[in-house]
This record gives sequence, structure tokens and C-alpha cells, in this order.
Amino acid sequence: MTADCLFCAIVAGDIPADVVHRDADAVAFRDIDPKAPVHVLVIPTVHAATAAELAEQDPALAGRLLAVAGDVARAEGVSDSGYRIVTNTGADAGQSVHHVHFHVLGGRGLTWPPG
Ligand code: 5GP
Ligand code: ZN
Repeated sequence: MTADCLFCAIVAGDIPADVVHRDADAVAFRDIDPKAPVHVLVIPTVHAATAAELAEQDPALAGRLLAVAGDVARAEGVSDSGYRIVTNTGADAGQSVHHVHFHVLGGRGLTWPPG
């Protein structure tokens, strides 16, 4: 738990979230401002700022989060229609929460490239 981290507070249950999956490694919850009919954030229960930092810190956990993202997509009914996994890193990518999170987006046609 890192002080002043919004997503550490969600992991701890100090800030409520619409949780769709929780295990020892990962929590998945609905984005508060969804950009698609399915918009779930998958985060590690430990703090890491970015996907690259997480992969250096614990490569197996980075892989596990992608597996959870796939499970979420299946549970949300978009694994056949298609979905996107996005992780923003740094200012130019618009990262606003500095606890790594994988956005799982689906349920509509998604444009490429994103804006
Ligand atoms: P980023 O911009 O860092 O890639 O993504 C952060 C995401 O977290 C945004 O899509 C934003 O809507 C979401 N978010 C920010 N605060 C909260 C919150 O308190 N609860 C939930 N569920 N999502 C949040
Ligand atoms: Zn954190």
C-alpha cells in the first residue's frame, strides 16, 4: 500500500469500487467514467507505477494480470466480439493514476488508432 495512491485505496477497500474480480494478485473494477459499454480496470494488489515497472519487479505477475484481463473479457461477454487492453504510461499517454492498470474496453467498435 502506497500512501496517497487512489488504486491502493481501492485494493484496501478504503474507497468503494464496483469490483468484478478479486484475488490475491489482482483486483478488477468498473471504470468510474466508462469509455465503452465494457470498461474494466485490472490492477495488481501491489503498487507499481507502470506496466514496465511491474514487469521488471514481477514478470509473472504482469503475465497474470493479462490472464485476468482475458477472464474479465470472457465474463463480460466480449471475448468473441473483441476487446482492447490498454495501459497508458506517462503524461503524453494521459496516465492519470500512477498505479499500473490495464483498461479492458469492449462492447462496441473501437477506432484505431486511438486519439
Ligand atoms: P488513466 O488515465 O491513468 O489511463 O486511467 C485512469 C482511469 O481511472 C480513468 O479511466 C478514470 O476514469 C478512472 N478512475 C479515476 N478515478 C477513479 C475512481 O475513483 N474509481 C474508478 N472506478 N475509476 C476511477
Ligand atoms: Zn498504488
